Amino acid sequence: MKVLVINCGSSSLKYQLITTEDGNVITKGLIEKIGGNSEFCFYGKNGEKITQSHKLKDHAEALGVVVSNLVDPAYKFVGRLEEIDAIGHRVVHGGEEFSKSVIIDDRVISSIEKYAELAPLHNPPNLLGIHSCSKVLPGTKQVAVFDTAFHQTMPESSYFYAIPYEYYDKYKIRRYGFHGTSHRYVTIKAAEFLKKDIESFNCITCHLGNGSSITAVKNGKSADTSMGFTPLEGVVMGTRCGTIDPNIVYFLMNKENMNTAQIDQVLNKKSGLAGFSGISNDLREVTAAAKDGNRRAAIARDLLVKSIRRYIGAYMVELGRVDSIIFTAGIGENDAYVREKCVEGLENFGIAMNTEINRLPSIRGQLTDLSLDGSKTRILLVPTNEEYMIAMETAWVINGK
Ligand code: ADP
Repeated sequence: MKVLVINCGSSSLKYQLITTEDGNVITKGLIEKIGGNSEFCFYGKNGEKITQSHKLKDHAEALGVVVSNLVDPAYKFVGRLEEIDAIGHRVVHGGEEFSKSVIIDDRVISSIEKYAELAPLHNPPNLLGIHSCSKVLPGTKQVAVFDTAFHQTMPESSYFYAIPYEYYDKYKIRRYGFHGTSHRYVTIKAAEFLKKDIESFNCITCHLGNGSSITAVKNGKSADTSMGFTPLEGVVMGTRCGTIDPNIVYFLMNKENMNTAQIDQVLNKKSGLAGFSGISNDLREVTAAAKDGNRRAAIARDLLVKSIRRYIGAYMVELGRVDSIIFTAGIGENDAYVREKCVEGLENFGIAMNTEINRLPSIRGQLTDLSLDGSKTRILLVPTNEEYMIAMETAWVINGK
């Protein structure tokens, strides 16, 4: 099956055309700055990068450019648009309603609209993508794959906050969790790799990128996760503070005379690695500064590691038996130091890393077992592939699986 995977941001449209049988990416691309002088970048059949400029008024026009490109005889991605069997959309928030991917119809659209209140920066552009596809590719089935869906299996003790219950009733304030597509993908891959039955597979998945979250997976299902009502909670991130004492919010607002929008900016955009180090949100730059003797940069990295270790510890207790600790996404896949520090000194718990393998440059992009032979818990590097997971989910939903 050929699935067009779409991920729309407020002024961007990312896509991949994937054959689900073998995971082959026929082409992929990105349009940025939609609404003005847009930049279109895509990859040709031989992997060569091609860039074009277009004046694009909205997402529908952007999708029009993508679709024309897909059938352009110069590139031969597809002969006819009818060859595209389905479209899979990344949708960030599915609230409590969606624990699985679904075929998009009017009811699903109005639910995604409803949950825009919970994800104001993400659900509206995701909807623009859906509406654009209805316009440009009418008749092609569309599937919504939600970032929150995988976490809908969490028990109440994981997802409720101990605040007055009325706020859950009134506003649905609870833990939702995010990056579900990635957590699910790496769980499936790890179970396959370790030849374990997913139904009894327990693991801790560490998705560490610009945004990071950690999930406790019990019997193949999400049992707890570090991101909460919003993606601000949890571990230290590029520009987000992660979990802090909520009283800091009121203290700062008073002292600095800040309104809610300003404190939101501070915690979401000006904190984390960037805010503490004063260097960058990119761990590579923070690490370089730390190596040059910058103390705050070194501490920022330590704060990141410590926050991850807190969740690993908590989830070891939650799960009782941990078959695997999995590292994925930009930092998890590339930063040997962070991986090493996250599991350092855990030998007494049956978790022992082979630091030599962990430091090999050649493991980049490869599913690799990083543990010592005797380690009961297998420490794995599993490259994530959210687009492929979305394509697979789309195919499963269309085929009624
Ligand atoms: P996003 O959450 O935006 O999808 P990614 O998963 O692409 O983020 O991760 C981006 C982050 O990964 C960067 O900010 C950087 O800190 C980190 N990163 C990428 N490559 C490396 C590397 N070689 N070494 C250390 N960190 C890296």
